Amino acid sequence: MSSTELNCPDLGRALCIITGASRGFGRTIAREMSRLVKPRSVLVLAARSADDLRALQAELVESEAGVAGLVVKCVVADLGQLEGQESVIRGSKEAFSEDIDHIILVNNAASLGDVSRYAKSFTNMAEVDSYLSFNVSSSLCLTASVLQAFPQRPGVKRTVINITSLCALQPFRSWVLYCTGKAAREMMFRVLAEEEPDLRVLNYSPGPLDTAMYTEARSRTADPNLRKSFSDSFAQGQVLTCETSCAKLMKLLLEDTYTSGAHIDVFDL
Ligand code: NDP
Repeated sequence: MSSTELNCPDLGRALCIITGASRGFGRTIAREMSRLVKPRSVLVLAARSADDLRALQAELVESEAGVAGLVVKCVVADLGQLEGQESVIRGSKEAFSEDIDHIILVNNAASLGDVSRYAKSFTNMAEVDSYLSFNVSSSLCLTASVLQAFPQRPGVKRTVINITSLCALQPFRSWVLYCTGKAAREMMFRVLAEEEPDLRVLNYSPGPLDTAMYTEARSRTADPNLRKSFSDSFAQGQVLTCETSCAKLMKLLLEDTYTSGAHIDVFDL
């Protein structure tokens, strides 16, 4: 994709906060954004794995393809914990400079939950609460905290992206936690889009991706038909690379013509 073919050639002098940047889709988003922002932009990379974040930071800062003066900050944080959320906000405020003209938050971090069991086995409220706390509550609270830390200002655009899934729309056997979390999380961003017309809100469904999460889905899903469909898709080469899906997400962001709050699937593009 050439960014010059698009409405906007770049993402601006941006502060990009990317959760789950240590591997998988989040890491690819960080790499792509580092090439599409203006010089002196800032990337805040959040996840729990310090070594993986630091390796990515070194790669981005040294990369020939990256923009001049790119600042890359790692925040080692468990986003399911209040302290983790606070560190992301603190790190983002520290990295902010007055000439930033685009705040971008990518809510990418998520977990699959235990897909080896069916809904009727989930009698333990603490287990369900813990899943929803990280996958739903933390994403609402982080988004709200970012919006408060960087309030609406003339000349500053704000974009919030939720990495969603077909599972937000359709039920899948033995995936009760994941489907519930993705449905709730997506509705939250739809409400946000209704409430805050100045914000750009996108629910992007990246399609099946060749990541650790997909490996877990293929190996641990309890429902035999669903498990087989994941293995078959993988064997038939239907699983996308993170780069392919991310290129479509970047095109959406650069074109910036989507309806705020919309659910857009990679296969719609
Ligand atoms: P991975 O499991 O490969 O990566 C998940 C990322 O989230 C990691 O960087 C992980 O980092 C981070 N993370 C997990 N738990 C926490 C936590 N408690 N605090 C902070 N960070 C955390 O997943 P994918 O890259 O495959 O998924 C990315 C997004 O895409 C997710 O929202 C997923 O639901 C969605 N998606 C994925 C699909 C797929 O086929 N893979 C299909 C459709 C949607 P660390 O462990 O270092 O904390």
